[in-house]
Amino acid sequence: MPTTLPIRILGDAILRTKLQPADPQDPFLKSFLPDLIQTMYERDGVGLAANQVGVNLRIFAIDPWWGREDEEQNPRVLINPEILSMEGEQIGEEGCISLPEIYANVPRALKITYRYLTPEGESITATAEGFEAVVIQHEYDHLDGIVFTDRISSLAKLKLKRKLKDMEAQAQDGVNLRIYEEE
Ligand SMILES: [Zn+2]
Repeated sequence: MPTTLPIRILGDAILRTKLQPADPQDPFLKSFLPDLIQTMYERDGVGLAANQVGVNLRIFAIDPWWGREDEEQNPRVLINPEILSMEGEQIGEEGCISLPEIYANVPRALKITYRYLTPEGESITATAEGFEAVVIQHEYDHLDGIVFTDRISSLAKLKLKRKLKDMEAQAQDGVNLRIYEEE
């Protein structure tokens, strides 16, 4: 049975770490990937990166359309993803499981071409646009230690400054795990 993992909150050093490449053959992934996927759904996320659950590997799970009417769970795991090209622009409101109660408009590329390894070790090149492209760009940023508030306008940043500072101040490594015990 997969386990729901504790979520790391902004202020935790691993969210600011450039993560290490993963080996699809790593036996650790056999238990970790189902845990990552389960945790994404349990936290109502459409994406979740490995460092958000404390793991230093370039891996994230996504399911952009989950939660919409009539959509079933269709999780995908991307290992060592790369964004090969970006075009156009879109701006939409984003949030993040690791930045509770913070939302802001973020500019993103409209369309991306990306490449990744599947858990079976197959290399896939694909394109995404619209919301799916946003989800991939958001999760990809996590692998480089970037969070969405790094990409918002300076005015929006100013408005969120106090909230972000408080969050980071409370967060010392390991002390700020959100286990969501209240649920
Ligand atoms: Zn996020």
